[in-house]
Amino acid sequence: MAYETDNHINIENNLIENELNFESDNIDTDKIFNVDKNTSEKSMYNTHTDLEKQITKDVSSILDFNEPATWPEYTNNDLRADFVKHGTIKITNYNFPYNDDKPYPRSFTKQYYIHSMANGEVVDRQWLVYSKIKDRVFCFCCVLFSQGNSESNLTNIKEGVNDWKHLSQKLLQHERSKPHYLSLKQWYDLKIGLKSLATIDQQHLTQIEKEKNHWRAMLQRILCIIQYLSKHNDGFRGKSDVLFTKNNGEFLGLIEMLSKFDSVTIEHIRRIKNVETHTHYLGHDIQDELINLMANETPAAKSNYL
Ligand SMILES: [Zn+2]
Repeated sequence: MAYETDNHINIENNLIENELNFESDNIDTDKIFNVDKNTSEKSMYNTHTDLEKQITKDVSSILDFNEPATWPEYTNNDLRADFVKHGTIKITNYNFPYNDDKPYPRSFTKQYYIHSMANGEVVDRQWLVYSKIKDRVFCFCCVLFSQGNSESNLTNIKEGVNDWKHLSQKLLQHERSKPHYLSLKQWYDLKIGLKSLATIDQQHLTQIEKEKNHWRAMLQRILCIIQYLSKHNDGFRGKSDVLFTKNNGEFLGLIEMLSKFDSVTIEHIRRIKNVETHTHYLGHDIQDELINLMANETPAAKSNYL
């Protein structure tokens, strides 16, 4: 019995895969990306994206998201999205090195990560990142999004700021600047976009899984009916091959019986009635195909089916 169950699962998996592949084969990716096959634009596009992917791969292998000294000077969309997904971290439990300022050497401190406003409100500077290697600070969102449109060295990954004496003033000046505001907005917009994309992806996967489960469950029922009828040498077909009509044979009769109480069959019949699916696995052809598949999977049992 276990052997027969395994065969059922193999047949079901193949059919379900074919069903899902059929859907994806019909997707014209060129149309989605608006690529004209008759021009060389497509090859240029591919070369460009391949190159971008290669750059992303190469950079990612040496990149430490928590260490600005390893960040590349130029980023593409893929890499920018990786940065945003990773987010920023605040280095706090660390002995920040002192400089040579006289008479009092100065260093970066974790106090700079927050901005205490005159009204007592405390604002978290999520954008401020510190490099241990360079002992300098940078603006995360401006490095990623400003494209050099800012005068502050906080936005230049090759520079950064280590003027601890004037840091408070420089930070205030920067966070009140228009380029910083625009970069901050792009950062938050991308973060929200990526989150909703992840939600959509998850919903899509859940839907595909539900669909697979439905087809797997329905095929189990159909295979069991075919096996039952074969073992009892009962005829499959009647004069009619339409559900819920007279003399439509034992196969469809048993499907109708299941549809009185079985939720999977009820859902399957509902889809057929509402024309939500063109594939229903209840026709003569699929019955013959399933009988052949079952017979091939178990040659010794062929005589039982045919
Ligand atoms: Zn900034």
